[in-house]
Amino acid sequence: MTYGFDTLQIHAGARPDPATGARQVPIYQTTAYVFRDAEHAAALFNLQEVGYIYSRLTNPTVAALQERVATLEGGAGAVCCSSGHAAQIMALFPLMAPGKNVVVSTRLYGGSITQFSQTIKRFGWTARFVDIDDLDAVNAAIDDDTRAVFCESIANPGGHIADIRALADVADAAGLPLIVDNTAASPYLCRPIELGATLVVHSMTKYLTGNGTVTGGVVVDSGTFDWSASDKFPSLSAPEPAYHGLKFHETFGPLAFTFHGIAIGLRDLGMTLNPQAAHYTLMGIETLSLRMQRHVENAQTVSAWLEGHDKVASVTYAGLESSPYHDRMAKVCPRGAGGLFTMQLKGGYDACVKFVDSLELFSHVANLGDTRSLVIHPASTTHRQLTTEQQIASGAGPDVVRISIGIEDAKDLIADLDQALNNAG
Ligand SMILES: *Cc1c(COP(=O)(O)O)cnc(C)c1O
Repeated sequence: MTYGFDTLQIHAGARPDPATGARQVPIYQTTAYVFRDAEHAAALFNLQEVGYIYSRLTNPTVAALQERVATLEGGAGAVCCSSGHAAQIMALFPLMAPGKNVVVSTRLYGGSITQFSQTIKRFGWTARFVDIDDLDAVNAAIDDDTRAVFCESIANPGGHIADIRALADVADAAGLPLIVDNTAASPYLCRPIELGATLVVHSMTKYLTGNGTVTGGVVVDSGTFDWSASDKFPSLSAPEPAYHGLKFHETFGPLAFTFHGIAIGLRDLGMTLNPQAAHYTLMGIETLSLRMQRHVENAQTVSAWLEGHDKVASVTYAGLESSPYHDRMAKVCPRGAGGLFTMQLKGGYDACVKFVDSLELFSHVANLGDTRSLVIHPASTTHRQLTTEQQIASGAGPDVVRISIGIEDAKDLIADLDQALNNAG
């Protein structure tokens, strides 16, 4: 029997606690777990038996969350980590090596552009930025040293929707995994694995937790990629010296990436999610579909209203007929385009700053995917480190304001936006 999404978001990964019968997933606030005996300890350390050793690697509360997100994304397994940015490193780490590159979309969260264009160079990795709507350009950017293609399903902040199926075909033909950041859509609106993605990453900080309480990230593996088909992915296909020559893909099959993420990634990089944070995220996911429905409904109403306002030059919400990505929405995220969009103000940079300062109900914060409506002017904040060309390419030019629509009453949001727009002049 296969359950529907609304059932799985509450039940997947959770079972009554074997020790107490507790119905809700307990917060296992412990660092270590007592071994039955020396033989049990040895089997755990050799990866011959699956179990709990130390909470940098595994924890029962975090494990419940991993199973829940993997189920909702339709993946074979998942590894949680401390933030969305940690998840991006955790996704690339088993694939990359010094001298290797990843082909990435120009339309990404500002922090991801910085992580890929600057920080990963310290590992000897490079990112090649391309317009992912130009499949020939994606193809041309791939060379013998490319190890993955990376995009966002619904791009933050520009309202761009990726043609995941077409990108998966390009990656597949090159023998490479496609990694999709599904943060702005959530698995309720978009299921990248069904569209051909190999790995899905999330900032769980956003819609999955949904109420602005904790940072968290996750990497979900589809379990379908053949890591042994070429010699490109030796971390997964070749003998691992740290585990007596064990080959992850041969030994763990569809769970190879997940086991590697725990046994090597979390063990040695240490970007672990703590059980308290996992608890908050589990609570949030229980209402994911309900929240996403309201986020979409409100974003649809508010964006349509903004589009008609005389201070607004344009609104980039894929749910609007005017969006060039409206048709793609039906293929990629048929239940709606999420709660995030941008608008251009006719008054430019100065009007954007004044508008943000005039809002009362909307909070001016560097976050999205909260129950509360949020606003930010990327050019003066999240995208400040980028050049003007990078800002424009990522959909965050100087005259652009990003809006994350919450689940409040739409009429109250519209009233607040109206007074702030009129104030911005
Ligand atoms: C916020 C965000 C990230 C980074 O996640 P953190 O949890 O803040 O580290 C990555 N991608 C997207 C699309 C985001 O919105």
